[in-house]
Amino acid sequence: MRTPVTIIGAGLGGLTLARVLQIHGIPVTVYEAESDATSRAQGGMLDIHEDNGQAALRDAGLLDAFRSLVVEGRETMRLVDRDGSVLHETADDGTGGRPEIQRGALRQALLDSLRAGTVRWGRKADGARALGDGRHEVTFADGGTVETSVLVGADGAWSRIRPLLSGAQPAYVGTSFVETYLHDADTRHTTCAQTVGGGSMIAPSPGKEIFAHRESGDTLHAYIALSRPLAWFDAIDFGDPASAATRIVAEFEGWAPELTALISDSDTAPVLRPHFALPPEHRWSRVPGVTLLGDAAHLAAPNGEGANLALLDGAELGKALASHGDGTEAALAAYEQALFARSAEAVTYDGAEVHGIDSEKNTAQHMLEMLTQ
Ligand SMILES: Cc1cc2nc3c(=O)[nH]c(=O)nc-3n(C[C@H](O)[C@H](O)[C@H](O)COP(=O)(O)OP(=O)(O)OC[C@H]3O[C@@H](n4cnc5c(N)ncnc54)[C@H](O)[C@@H]3O)c2cc1C
Repeated sequence: MRTPVTIIGAGLGGLTLARVLQIHGIPVTVYEAESDATSRAQGGMLDIHEDNGQAALRDAGLLDAFRSLVVEGRETMRLVDRDGSVLHETADDGTGGRPEIQRGALRQALLDSLRAGTVRWGRKADGARALGDGRHEVTFADGGTVETSVLVGADGAWSRIRPLLSGAQPAYVGTSFVETYLHDADTRHTTCAQTVGGGSMIAPSPGKEIFAHRESGDTLHAYIALSRPLAWFDAIDFGDPASAATRIVAEFEGWAPELTALISDSDTAPVLRPHFALPPEHRWSRVPGVTLLGDAAHLAAPNGEGANLALLDGAELGKALASHGDGTEAALAAYEQALFARSAEAVTYDGAEVHGIDSEKNTAQHMLEMLTQ
């Protein structure tokens, strides 16, 4: 008899795992803290890579669904100097291998692929304890409990399942994003729209960076990156959007107004997104009946890989559980061995030199050399 799988967290990783398990006829239930699929804006565009995110969607039988949701043209990438001049542009000719999709659309496609009732909404896990023989009991904020023989923590950065395996805690990496949105940009924010162009735009500088993306329609979504301690951000009143925007803009003195307008002209209140990470080589010893995937296993500062790795983890774990029959422990061991190797590789990959915002090399000139060499 195959053991039912209990997944905590209906993010991209947990849902991919659920989907792959259902394809292989393995019973699964996903418990999700949010009250329903629309209770939280899913934010942002994700570029889904051929070798991990797309490979996972193929295993989930969702590659065609994914392709139908790709937002055309958004792979265009523009490098801009702080004075607003465009130094380089890579056009989207459809061969980039990293098509862009709205995160919410991808999550919905995964949800739609699951049997009705697979996801139990409004079930926030508070913690879990071992019952012996690889079984675990999960306790929810509503007081309910479930027992399971295969427990998967897919509950993101602040996982309530991770303590069963590891004492590691995410630590602040020293950089945060401040997130803004400009809607109807082609008519209401024309200068910003022209500066960002048809896809993404990056204006880098050591310790600070403005990154923006044209989402579906003509919404501009900007991430303003600043390498500052958390205490520095604590002193900003984000409850007062205008003064918070003014304070952030002040960090970009001398930058082109069409770049700083991505902050000052935001249609939404600026939202602080501090970056936390687990230790780069985070791993654990095998504990019967439980494992982790995605950010719960290898949270890193945003580097364009996190969602892709979560998708891949979900697919790989699903395939491991399906191919090992009743041998759950062998499946989990094989999954973790590959997981540890690929997550260590992803966080130490050389892109850190290009994308590390606090690096002295985080300049438009250096990035130009990297792009044109
Ligand atoms: C600002 C920002 C930009 C990013 N941009 C990119 C990008 O461009 N490309 C990319 O590949 N990655 C990007 N990432 C990283 C990416 O978002 C994550 O790596 C990815 O979402 C991890 O997926 P996951 O399924 O592991 O976790 P999550 O997406 O965090 O999903 C976890 C789920 O578990 C639920 N949950 C949490 N706690 C509990 C609980 N106690 N009980 C029940 N449910 C719970 C949550 O509500 C959520 O639905 C970005 C991250 C940030 C912060």
